[in-house]
Amino acid sequence: KTSNPSILITGGLGFIGSNFIQYYLKKYSKHQIVNLDKLTYAGELSNLKAVANYPNYTYIKGDICDKDLIKSLFEEYNFSHVIHFAAESHVDNSIASPDAFINTNVVGTFNLLDVARSSWMESPFKVKNGREKNRFHHISTDEVYGTLGETGLFTESTPYAPNSPYSASKASSDFLVRSYFHTYGMNVVTTNCSNNYGPKQHDEKLIPTIIRKALKGEQIPIYGDGKNIRDWLYVLDHCKGIDLAFQKGKSGETYNIGGKNERDNLYIANTICSILDNLRPREDSYSSLITFVSDRPGHDFRYAIDASKIENQLGWSADEDFESGIIKTVNWYINKYEQ
Ligand code: NAD
Repeated sequence: KTSNPSILITGGLGFIGSNFIQYYLKKYSKHQIVNLDKLTYAGELSNLKAVANYPNYTYIKGDICDKDLIKSLFEEYNFSHVIHFAAESHVDNSIASPDAFINTNVVGTFNLLDVARSSWMESPFKVKNGREKNRFHHISTDEVYGTLGETGLFTESTPYAPNSPYSASKASSDFLVRSYFHTYGMNVVTTNCSNNYGPKQHDEKLIPTIIRKALKGEQIPIYGDGKNIRDWLYVLDHCKGIDLAFQKGKSGETYNIGGKNERDNLYIANTICSILDNLRPREDSYSSLITFVSDRPGHDFRYAIDASKIENQLGWSADEDFESGIIKTVNWYINKYEQ
């Protein structure tokens, strides 16, 4: 007897999770999705209004730090898989108040792993019959690797060296996932991706902030000298990578996902300003609004990902380069901010 997968997705009302759920439900119309999200300031119900009435989609408002709730959901829905996005995700917030990062990112991830283990395994080291394919997919970040200098790329074997409370909490969660594979033999996969951009990202993040401030004619704040480099990944390319690693990735492995789009923050701001100069012309170029502000403490200089493992082993490649993805993104936010 084959039954349709029933998947617990956490954090599905946030930026990447909501893009993923929408993508996934269109592609796999027979899979059941339960989205567990606490609806913190970072989540938006409207992010999933397009699928809210799908019969195979259920939203549950709840906290991954509540282990009893997770247990009761596993009993009710008999999940075959977990795809774990829920996290506190903003580095600046982790500097101001790290507590929630430790609770959600570390303790929350532990709760999910541990309940999945008791549901899928009959004893330590022995997976229940028929449960061998049950997978725990953990979504993580390239920030766990720390910072790069002018050259070099992060690979899956780069040593972990997190520098912010956010990246330290994500590194801890990655290690917990790793330990559930090595200790208990649980079927786990982790993907570590670079900076995402695209529709539905929270206003606090760099690209929405640049667009929003520019449209209001306000100063566009850029940290330090604007020379910090990130490797930008269009969110739908990330979703396709997660799907591949979830379906075909090897248990116990990690896969880096990056867009090969290294751009510095000043370049990002100038590119957005010149797109807006065309779409919403004003007297002065929007770039005259760019203002340098004091740097973030412990600001990593450069992140860049070598994605050859997921490309060669799972056949992933990015469809968007930064210049095509950013035009779609700017148009999406113009539509949002001008409503
Ligand atoms: P986000 O901040 O936009 O969304 C996080 C979601 O998790 C929100 O809907 C929030 O309500 C929910 N949440 C937070 N705490 C919760 C809790 N205790 N219980 C249940 N739900 C909770 O984040 P995002 O940008 O979509 O990131 C998703 C994942 O991808 C995170 O694990 C993040 O570390 C990782 N990641 C993000 C990026 C990026 O560029 N955005 C890059 C690398 C990795």
